[in-house]
Order: sequence, then structure tokens, then C-alpha cells
Amino acid sequence: MAVVAIDNDIKNPDTFEVTWDMGLRCNFDCTYCPAHRHNNTSPHASLETLIKTSKFVFDYKKLIQSYLTVDRRWNIGFTGGEPTNNPNFLDMCEYIHAQNDPNVLVDVTTNGAFSQKYCEKLIETVDSITISYHCEAKDKVKQSCIDRIYQIHSAGMQYKVNLMIHAKQEYFDECMTLVDRFTRDNIRFVPRIIGESYEDSKYSHRYTKEQHAWFKTYWANKNKNVNKPDDNKDAEYEYKDDQNKANAKRIEEKPKEKSVSQLLQEGFKKEQQEQEQPKKQEPKKEEPKKEEPKKEQKVNTRKELGRPCCGQRTFYTLDESKYNKDDVKLDTDDWKPSIFACSTEYKNWSCMINWNWLHIEQEYDNILHHQTCRANFGGERGPIGKISQSEKILERLKRQLATGTMPVITCPNKLCGCGLCVPKAKHHNITEAMFKKSVKGLTPIIGGTMDV
Ligand code: SF4
Ligand code: SF4
Repeated sequence: MAVVAIDNDIKNPDTFEVTWDMGLRCNFDCTYCPAHRHNNTSPHASLETLIKTSKFVFDYKKLIQSYLTVDRRWNIGFTGGEPTNNPNFLDMCEYIHAQNDPNVLVDVTTNGAFSQKYCEKLIETVDSITISYHCEAKDKVKQSCIDRIYQIHSAGMQYKVNLMIHAKQEYFDECMTLVDRFTRDNIRFVPRIIGESYEDSKYSHRYTKEQHAWFKTYWANKNKNVNKPDDNKDAEYEYKDDQNKANAKRIEEKPKEKSVSQLLQEGFKKEQQEQEQPKKQEPKKEEPKKEEPKKEQKVNTRKELGRPCCGQRTFYTLDESKYNKDDVKLDTDDWKPSIFACSTEYKNWSCMINWNWLHIEQEYDNILHHQTCRANFGGERGPIGKISQSEKILERLKRQLATGTMPVITCPNKLCGCGLCVPKAKHHNITEAMFKKSVKGLTPIIGGTMDV
């Protein structure tokens, strides 16, 4: 069954995501992170430059927000490189809070390689933290990252852990141990597929059949429970140093009861055996044995694996069989809640990414609708303008809005990554209904360009 539209979660407050890549500088060198995303030499952006950029963000917000049907919460999410490496980072977050806009929140995506003391300051300064666990880091650094995860968890703040699931078997096993540990301790985590944004490149991890099946089973189980209360949320966890040490010990011990990852793997094996059963009963044909070349047990990560929402958001999907071309209704039971999409192919669909996302590339002086998809109007990919000439972006947008119409983006990409949960549709009348739900005072021009 094919999905023809994805809508956002009407039950949760709407958000507008601003991802702000502060610069390429990073203290890690993950093999799956391309050179255009990190290095250890780039200069840090100055506080003055960052403040100037934030002025554009606030002006853009004012303009866009005046056309949105509901007051959105604007999440400014700092990324990199490693944002906490920039000595101006905490000051910048404080500057944003000093603007006293209750609808603006600050998030940071970090590798967690900092001290307990810095973490205390970070917890005080930002509204939420996304902390990524990278298997390739040194053991000491990884232990420190785990300590920071529990520190953040016990602070009772909004956070999530990106558990970067590495395809190398020893790292994969390490991740499975952490899946069990985090599940047991109610740590909010998302198992991330490495290289989601890079199709057929050396940065995309190719998982083995078993690893691939683990992802599938994990997300199928999560999807089943999507309407149940999240037991991974709001759990009480008292952080104590000695308790954490005990936890560190337990990570090496064999769990007495079957762990989540064991159960998932066993479930997959059973399913696989059942599928293979009829084949086994067929009479054996006597054929000369040929030396077959060993097939590489690898899977196309991007296309076949599907994708969860990396923000753990619930989105709603409409199946082709439920699509009524004469009467499009949003928010009915025909729309199924989901946190995982089996397909990530939406090329030529209409997409509302520009009403949901903005991306700043500080070091490259670029402003885009979205970091990885890079969709622009007219089915093109690329920036909407330069940070250094950001007033031009605002002037053009104002001219467009004054016409009372707005082009709708046509997806230019073979595969969709991080913008998965953003409203999108294959059919124009669904797009029009979605546009009307989110945007007021404008007529959508599907597939149009900004000709102003
Ligand atoms: S920590 Fe993040 S930015 Fe740094 S190298 Fe790894 S993936 Fe890239
Ligand atoms: S790749 Fe971008 S434009 Fe295409 S569907 Fe995803 S978010 Fe929308």
C-alpha cells in the first residue's frame, strides 16, 4: 500500500525548526562525517557575527509568523561541527534568551565531549539538548559522553540521545548494549541510521541483513505502540556518581533477562525461519555444485531501510486507498499515526518544508530552507541567499507575500531525510488543504517559483 501524503501531528504544538550550523570546527573526526561538515581547523564565528545572523532569524520569524495560522514555537537548534567548541556558544544562547521572545527556544546538538561543569552551565543555558553517541570516539570520551547523558537526564530537562548505530559489528554490538541500557533506564534515545543524508556514498553505512532487520523490527514495534503513552518519557532518574559507576559495570555484564535487542533479534530470526520453511520442504534437485561468488550481505541503507523521524515526532500518513479525490479531509481517522516511514521517496511531491524549517550555514555564508534536502522553489536545490546579504532574502519574500500568492516547493530529491515529518503530498488537492490549514491570507501556487 502506497502512502500519498504525510501531515504533521495536530495533537502536538506546532514548531518551526531553525537549524544553525555554527561552523565546521569539531574535536571529533567521525569517518562517516564528510569533510564539508567538519574539520578541526576552522576559525570560530565571533559573537558579533552570530548576533548579526540572529537578527535575520528574528526578522524572518516575524514575517513568516504573520502568515501562519497558529503561533509556532521556534526552535533554534545549534549544530556544527561541534557547537560547544565555539567559546562564544553559551553567550550566544544567552543573547537569544535576552530577546525575551517566549516562542523562541534554544536547542543544541552535541557530541557530549565536555566536562561535568560545562554540562551544568549548558543545562542552565539551553532549553533542550540532543546528545549524539559516536562509537568511533576513544573509550574514555565515550564513557564521559554516557556520564553527560545521565547528568542531562537527571536534570529533568528536554533532551534526546542520537545513538549512531555503526555498521562495524563490534560497534553495532556496543550500540545494542546501549539500546538495552538506555531502555532499562528510561533514557530517551533514537537509534540513528548512519549516512541518512548521503545516497550511495562512502558516508552511508551499509548494514548487514541482520542489522537491517534489527532496525525494521525495532521501528515496527515502536510504530505499534505509537498511540500508547511513551514510557521512555518523563521517567524519574536520580543521577548519582556511584550509581553511574554501577551502571557502567552492568554494561559489561550479561543481562539475566532477555534484553530488548536480544528479543528483537530473536523475533527477526523466527520470522525469517517461518519465511524459509516452505522452501525447505521442496524436494531437493540434484544439481552440480557450482562455486558461487560470495554475495556481499549488504543492503541499500537509504532506500530499503525506511526512516524514523529523527525528532521522534509522530506524523500522520494517508494511504492511496483512503484518498478521495473529490473530498479531501485532513485530521480524520483515515490518517494513521506513525513515527517511521517505510518509504522515503517523495520526488516531485509538493512539500511545505519552507513553512517548517530554516537552515543557516554560518561558515559557508548560506541560508537554506533545510540543511540536507536543500530544496528551493521550482524543483531546484540550493540556498535562498547569503547571510551577508540577508536583507535581500527578506525584501524578496516581502514582495512575494504582497502578491497574495506563494509558490509551493516541489521535492527535487530522490530520497527524503530529516524533513520526513514535514507535510507533503502527491496530489495537489491534498497540498492545497494542508497549505490552508497552516497558512493564512495566501493562495498556493503549486510548483511555482519566486519571480518577484
Ligand atoms: S562529532 Fe558530529 S560534527 Fe564532529 S565529526 Fe562526528 S558527526 Fe561530524
Ligand atoms: S527531501 Fe526535502 S523537499 Fe523533498 S520531501 Fe523531504 S523535506 Fe520535502
